[in-house]
Amino acid sequence: GAELKYAGFDAVSITGRAESLSYLYIDPDKQTINPVPDLAGTGSFETEQKVKQLVGDKNVKILTIGPAGEQKVPFSCISSERYRQLGRGGIGAVMGSKNLKAIAIRGWLDVTVEDFEGTMRLAEEFHEKDGVTAEDNEIYQYGTPVLVDLAQESGLLPTKNFSEGRFDNYKNLNGEAFKDVRQNKKACFGCGIACGNWVKEGDHQVEGPEFETIVLGGTSLGIGERASVIEFNALCDDYGIDTISTGGTIAYMMEMTEKGFHDFGIMFGDKEKTLQAVKDIATRSGKWAEAAEGTKGLSEKYGHKELAINVKGMELPGYDPRGSYGMGIAYVTAPRGGCHMSAYPIALEAWGDRDPFTFDGKGVLVAKMQNSQFAKFSFGVCDFWPINSETLGKLFEVTFGGSWPKEKVREVGERVFNLQRMFSVMAGFTKNADKLPQRFYKEVLKAGPPADIPMTEEAFDKAMQEYYEYRGWDSLGRPTIKKLQSLGIEKHLIDEYTSRVTL
Ligand code: SF4
Repeated sequence: GAELKYAGFDAVSITGRAESLSYLYIDPDKQTINPVPDLAGTGSFETEQKVKQLVGDKNVKILTIGPAGEQKVPFSCISSERYRQLGRGGIGAVMGSKNLKAIAIRGWLDVTVEDFEGTMRLAEEFHEKDGVTAEDNEIYQYGTPVLVDLAQESGLLPTKNFSEGRFDNYKNLNGEAFKDVRQNKKACFGCGIACGNWVKEGDHQVEGPEFETIVLGGTSLGIGERASVIEFNALCDDYGIDTISTGGTIAYMMEMTEKGFHDFGIMFGDKEKTLQAVKDIATRSGKWAEAAEGTKGLSEKYGHKELAINVKGMELPGYDPRGSYGMGIAYVTAPRGGCHMSAYPIALEAWGDRDPFTFDGKGVLVAKMQNSQFAKFSFGVCDFWPINSETLGKLFEVTFGGSWPKEKVREVGERVFNLQRMFSVMAGFTKNADKLPQRFYKEVLKAGPPADIPMTEEAFDKAMQEYYEYRGWDSLGRPTIKKLQSLGIEKHLIDEYTSRVTL
């Protein structure tokens, strides 16, 4: 993102499809499409190195897809600098559909803001005040694996495809365990927190594993070996496939096999088979090729949708909603499906002072959190900076000018959220798609704080109506024209929406 800005662009819109596999080069002076047919089937890591060589500039920044993106696997990802993955929602398949193997960006222009000195002053002030550079910050110390102990203690650590909420061998996979094999810290552009860990064990090294990967590539598969999770992570990154959805899909196959519903030939704890399944899924070949359709596709063919742990076809991340009811609402209302990024009420529920086992007030809580989050993400601020809307408003003022009280900042987030909901509704996703897998209503967890507490579908549905009402949507979860107009959404977008949706 930063390099693109230095190249003079805020965003790039790519239309059409290249005749042969290509990479797109962008700098301030030229933008070219360059065929690279020889890179077909090449992993993300090697692709990145080869494109750097082709460009002839080691400072160029690269986005790549692996074989999974080329195969248009619906949960393929885009890799960046062998470091971060744009993991969720299958965006790698979008590049693959355009025959776009990589994007190489080099920038050298200045970036201007309304008030440069004010920006620098605020940056220093916030870093000191919010402690984002403090070495006693646990996210700095351990990265996201620090969450393993918290999730275990709260009894919501997805284990064996969310059939349990505690994992016996969790200490093999917690923050301390991964710190033991850490080679280095890593940070994204301009970040003072540096939550990233570069780890190495045996022949495998990777940036990570993040908490979600530890869960979906470890505990949820019944695998408690650190080396196996590292290898799973490295393989997924290189093949260009989302660790969460990949792990979630393998977990479904394992449980289906264990319960005798269908023999996928893989059981909980099968480390070697898991690694082979990753390769098969990413390349759509071999024994587990059809798992490239994810839990949604598999469960439509083989049944038992209650074991297909997804929302709107996207596999759930590493928090069992039975231990944090607000997360359930966040999962079903997140625009891209089962996603933990739109709101994080678990921090207030399981790890705060709000009752995690009630839906009372949670619809409103989640909606408010989403509005703040979407304003924050629109500005490109990392989730790990606990910035509030007031502080964000100060940053808006020095960046864009004008006055940005917190209400106006939140309205930015609300507008973005509603725009995305409009898209979902036009694509056919309304109240009926805002559902959790039936497992969460039908089975109770057996250990820890959530033990034996039922989460009823009736209470969930009631909370959803409260959520829709607070958002100014109708009872089917569709934004009303009045709401969209009040947010200042452009008339031509509202016209498009109403031409496709009968409200
Ligand atoms: S920007 Fe966020 S994700 Fe990246 S290193 Fe910093 S804290 Fe971690």
